[in-house]
Amino acid sequence: MARYIFITGGVVSSLGKGLASAALGALLQARGYSVRLRKLDPYLNVDPGTMSPFEHGEVFVTDDGAETDLDLGHYERFTGVHARKTDSVSSGRIYSSVLEKERRGDYLGKTIQVVPHVTNEIKDFINIGDDEVDFMLCEIGGTVGDIEGLPFFEAIRQFAHDKPRGQCIFMHLTLLPYLSASGELKTKPTQHSVKELQSIGIAPDVLVCRSEQPIPERELEKIALFCNVRKSCVVPAYDLTSIYEAPLAYHGQGLDQAVLDAFDISPAPAPKLATWHDVYDRIHNPEGQVKVAIVGKYTQLEDAYKSIAEALTHGGMANRVKVKIEWVDAEVFDQGDAAPHLEGYHAILVPGGFGERGTEGKIKAAQFARERNVPYLGICLGMQMAVIEAARNVAGITKAGSEEFDHEAGQKRFEPVVYHLKEWVQGNHAVTRKADDDKGGTMRLGAYTAALTEGSKVAEVYGATTIEERHRHRYEVDIKYREKLEACGLTFSGMSPDGKLPEIVEWKDHPWFIGVQYHPELKSKPFAPHPLFEGFVKAAVENSRLV
Ligand code: GLN
Repeated sequence: MARYIFITGGVVSSLGKGLASAALGALLQARGYSVRLRKLDPYLNVDPGTMSPFEHGEVFVTDDGAETDLDLGHYERFTGVHARKTDSVSSGRIYSSVLEKERRGDYLGKTIQVVPHVTNEIKDFINIGDDEVDFMLCEIGGTVGDIEGLPFFEAIRQFAHDKPRGQCIFMHLTLLPYLSASGELKTKPTQHSVKELQSIGIAPDVLVCRSEQPIPERELEKIALFCNVRKSCVVPAYDLTSIYEAPLAYHGQGLDQAVLDAFDISPAPAPKLATWHDVYDRIHNPEGQVKVAIVGKYTQLEDAYKSIAEALTHGGMANRVKVKIEWVDAEVFDQGDAAPHLEGYHAILVPGGFGERGTEGKIKAAQFARERNVPYLGICLGMQMAVIEAARNVAGITKAGSEEFDHEAGQKRFEPVVYHLKEWVQGNHAVTRKADDDKGGTMRLGAYTAALTEGSKVAEVYGATTIEERHRHRYEVDIKYREKLEACGLTFSGMSPDGKLPEIVEWKDHPWFIGVQYHPELKSKPFAPHPLFEGFVKAAVENSRLV
């Protein structure tokens, strides 16, 4: 039976609960335990797949095709444990499952209520895989006191009550605001938020207190006394220059020890932190710097491309350089010259995206990279843009475009070099889609295998000819243009195993120009940088020596 750590937040949102959970997961692993991390989100969407990145940041995709919260990305990056469908749930999914059961008649005529039906559904979810790991870390999204969160808080209270004593603990993150006028850190909001938790029957075992200023000993004592938490379990959490310092910083403040103490695990196995020391060293002692432009649409909100930014950092760590990311809004040069906006970067990355806005600018970015020999990494939409650019400007298909944009405009303006994919093979069964399908959960999602051409750049980068990567797309480069494009020098160097779906393209006579239909950024880790990002940053370093 797993031990459970429930992680909640109070006072304000965006305190870094996801990161704290991920760092704690990494620390428990460093002590030899197996872990799994889960996110329970109170919002009513069934999953974040249909939400705009402006609403909710990036959508993280798991191997088994779930569209989840970006916190699952942090969990994977810190622990290396690949998340599954069953590691992410929202109120929307819980309610739809309860309502499905009601329609089926599973509740035998009973009145359906939040307690026990909704809370039971949540508890069943939390309990999945109970016998698989030593520790299950469950983060509750939002802040204590939110209306939507109540069924989740009630469910975790009951869950801990149902399990044997000592099997579950509660860790609560709060903020100590600093009043510069009086030069004081205030503990009152923390006291209130703990009171709020206590009023729903949850007594936190560990308090993690975010603060911009050092927390004096007497304030820690005060929090311990007023919040009824052991002093050693009040853990300060200060701002960090890099998120990858978090495991060492939390360890330094005694978080993992506090958690093990709360479970009465004694003596606790000593932690092995060499990996995190190495990560720290690579982050803090770079031997150079490269400047990379991310040419996208959601550039005001960095969370929209969270995993890409992290993967670039990992690529930098592998090459012992700092990667300075600059966000370039593609729409600015939809019309007009892209060059003034793109000169001076050592490499250009065009990320995934949806909809037509900004795509002409992205196509120009691909052209600029091709013509000027600047390293280019096109991800998903970024690959499609590179193919359209090649078709228009090299292969002479002047009207080349994507069906995605014609679909929006309701007219046929483009020759669909990129078309709406409606059938493909998953494992050994066929998947089909219709033009008017629901939007939610109907893309080509999750891990698929690709076969790489021997001797290609991408095979060299991976050091392999069979790879498995995560996908999230509805449109696809049309194989029927392969011959024409390859004759111009754009090689289709990675294909689905049945040879029907182009997965990777690369320019033969370019130092480093690769477009991939999948999302390599989702599998990169600080301690295991993704080969494409390692190779891309290496190419940027080489390019920086030329400029
Ligand atoms: N909009 C494109 C598609 O659906 C690209 C998706 C993406 O970049 N994730 O195929």
